[in-house]
Amino acid sequence: MRVALVLAAAGESSRLTGAEPKQSRLLGGIPVLEWTLHTAASVPEFHCVVAVLPSGIEDKIALGIDLPVHAVTGGCTRYESVRRGLDEALRRGCDTALVHDAARPFAGVQLFRRVIDELGRGAAAVVPVVPVSDTIKRLDGASPTTIPREGLWRAQTPQGILIEKVLESYDAVAGPEGPRGRQGSPEPPTDEAAMAEIGGLDVVTVEGDLLNLKITYDEDWAVAEAMVAQGIVQTPGRDRSLPLPERNLVLPVGGASGVGFDAHRLVEGVPLFLGGVRIPHPRGLHGHSDGDAVSHAVADALLGAAHLGDIGTLYPASDDRNRGRQSTEFLREIVAILHERGLSISSVDVTVIAEEPRLEPYKEAIRRALAGALSIDTSEVSVKATTTDGLGITGSGGGIAALATAVVAPYHIESLRQSSSKR
Ligand code: MG
Repeated sequence: MRVALVLAAAGESSRLTGAEPKQSRLLGGIPVLEWTLHTAASVPEFHCVVAVLPSGIEDKIALGIDLPVHAVTGGCTRYESVRRGLDEALRRGCDTALVHDAARPFAGVQLFRRVIDELGRGAAAVVPVVPVSDTIKRLDGASPTTIPREGLWRAQTPQGILIEKVLESYDAVAGPEGPRGRQGSPEPPTDEAAMAEIGGLDVVTVEGDLLNLKITYDEDWAVAEAMVAQGIVQTPGRDRSLPLPERNLVLPVGGASGVGFDAHRLVEGVPLFLGGVRIPHPRGLHGHSDGDAVSHAVADALLGAAHLGDIGTLYPASDDRNRGRQSTEFLREIVAILHERGLSISSVDVTVIAEEPRLEPYKEAIRRALAGALSIDTSEVSVKATTTDGLGITGSGGGIAALATAVVAPYHIESLRQSSSKR
């Protein structure tokens, strides 16, 4: 048995507000898609991952996982997208696939294992299910009718299939005109277990997981963020060795502001980075990391607003792992820490103090780079530059300093209500 994870991530997130598709939106500082990839990396049976993506985001998945990931472009429907993923899995020498919706980032290793174990026992198709707790109504008549709940279960993913067996049996029934659902319905099947059913194969069920939330609506997103913030689910891949205070701070609903300051000496022979932007200049900032005083000031402003100490405590110069690191990486990690604590960044304002170089041409680039590192809109970032009229270390051209303020606020249920009332 050679198992591929086929990750269905080509959906358009049409039921979620916001410009970014949900698979690349940050949850706990990590794109939704990558949650599953980190989990998959802990399942030794996986031979490879086939990620079915909308066109254009293939090159955006930057991964630190030890598993080959092949990207294919999705089709118009989930069925079409998954079909392409399964074809790719076959081409990659896999005979078995676990198909999983990227919109379910919290599916754990144990759930993947339960599905793989049943395939190992000879099942052709496996589906995890959880009980239905709501009373179900049918609304297509004049007045609602109640569907008896007995025998009803909700299907989750990952669903496991023997690829060729399920595709062949399904195609034999569906015929050459393409996908047909059960009883001649023109709708293509919405999951892999349905394909096996239509093909007349036995489908085995395993116990699903009630924490295996599917993010469809804005409210689901809010629940997912709360689960991360409360530590109900563990954010994968983040450095857990960072020294952080206990989660005991409750920020006011309107948020809290923080201030940060940093200064570094200009020296020959090193590149100059400000806010992650490389600025052409014969001298750069001396420092243990890349000396980026702008990113350091912003980091301290964010940490200050959230009462999380300072950058020197989190990333001590005595720790060799921080040597030569890009300071925007620190910012990304701090954003992840804030998200985990249920906090989001409302605004950042920076003043760069430098006699040279002239920063006017770079202010916009720095603003965009900071917004990118902080995963916020550029409208929430402001960058200004000033000189000190020839006075002090910055005035003599011996160094560059930066001053930053930031406002950090708890995710607010009101903003969720506003966005859902627009629907
Ligand atoms: Mg510094």
